[in-house]
Amino acid sequence: FSQEKSQSIRAQFPILEQSVNNEPLIYFDNAATSQTPHSVVEALADYYHHDNANIHRGVHTLAEQATRAYEGSRQYIADFIGAKDPSEVIFTSGTTDGINFLARGLVEDQLETDDIILTTPLEHHSNLVPWQELCQRKGAKLEYMPLNEDFQVNLSMLKKRNTENIRAIVIQHVSNVLGVEQPIQALSEWARDHDILLIVDGAQAIPHQAINVNDLGVDAYCFSGHKAYGPTGIGVCYLNERHHQQARPVQYGGEMIHFVGDYESNYKDSPWKFEAGTPPIAQAIALQTALEYINQTGVEAIAQHEAALTQQLYQGLQKIDGIELYQSPAIIARNPHGIISFNFTTIHPHDAASAYDMEGIAVRAGHHCAQVLMRKLDVAATLRASVGMYNTAAEVEQFLLVTKKIKEFFDYVSI
Ligand code: PMP
Repeated sequence: FSQEKSQSIRAQFPILEQSVNNEPLIYFDNAATSQTPHSVVEALADYYHHDNANIHRGVHTLAEQATRAYEGSRQYIADFIGAKDPSEVIFTSGTTDGINFLARGLVEDQLETDDIILTTPLEHHSNLVPWQELCQRKGAKLEYMPLNEDFQVNLSMLKKRNTENIRAIVIQHVSNVLGVEQPIQALSEWARDHDILLIVDGAQAIPHQAINVNDLGVDAYCFSGHKAYGPTGIGVCYLNERHHQQARPVQYGGEMIHFVGDYESNYKDSPWKFEAGTPPIAQAIALQTALEYINQTGVEAIAQHEAALTQQLYQGLQKIDGIELYQSPAIIARNPHGIISFNFTTIHPHDAASAYDMEGIAVRAGHHCAQVLMRKLDVAATLRASVGMYNTAAEVEQFLLVTKKIKEFFDYVSI
């Protein structure tokens, strides 16, 4: 971005103006949660100031306004992700909620003893533990697909395997630790040929690149609002229309029913049959505003800006002695998705994260909800710096300076 554009973006995020520990805040924890622009906070306030009412059932004006805005957001999101129809957009509370719904509502009934679900060792726990639990309960097997050395699924090895019992592939689009993007489109062609469901965790892809679920050819695709400049408590599960009949609601109650008898009931069509109870209306509406903001800024422009920052971060860290990087230059070149995982060879990541915080810099330390991957990398925890559209080259420079300072400080105290 030009300096002018960068400034105008940052002006939309008042949270960035504050000091932390007397230093200007540098927010490099976007892979965990991104900040929300003015317009999103306004959309939430506007809803409560003007439209707050329960949706769908009311005939009064406010109920109609709230319903129109809620369903309007669904339509906007459908267009944003390239869904064929708004009925394919199911509101959830986030990625975790969406994946749990798919495990129980879509896959469970199709899964038999000794069936197989394929996944990768890179998954976030939210796209792993629900499948472990399901497999245990149904006597099915969870299997890790072979990876190339760049952590992408090895398609040629995969294609040689017997596909008989494979029911589903559950895979992230982009890794929250390594930024690696999986070849979803190629996987979907293979999966479709073999009648295998393809379920994708898109939590780390949505805010950073254009997504078209139709081009990707997925059966389901989940993401969270709070990682895409939207509010917490809202997410989306895209479910391809061909599964709407077969998929089963996992929550029952008000809003999702068509007719309630004394002993049994029937349900509305998708998406409403999957949205029991009063949904997070304000958040759903404000998610549209967040995606509008991404569109307005330009998805491609954001991706390019973040790619430049990723390279700058990586190359800067490469030059500092005593830093271990977990992504190869080739991985960064192919996947500049704003995420860098690293460690100081002699400093515990939690100590380092506290030292960064003392300098006003927010980075994350830990296993990043990816303990299987941590074991593969042979580390207990890493530091992770992750950027968003409002971060700047100057912030990266400052981060690199602070990194050197932390290294020197710990070298000094350990003499
Ligand atoms: N998958 C990935 C790749 C993630 O990065 C995250 C959030 N860290 C999740 C799933 C879970 O998202 P949520 O906590 O919003 O449900």
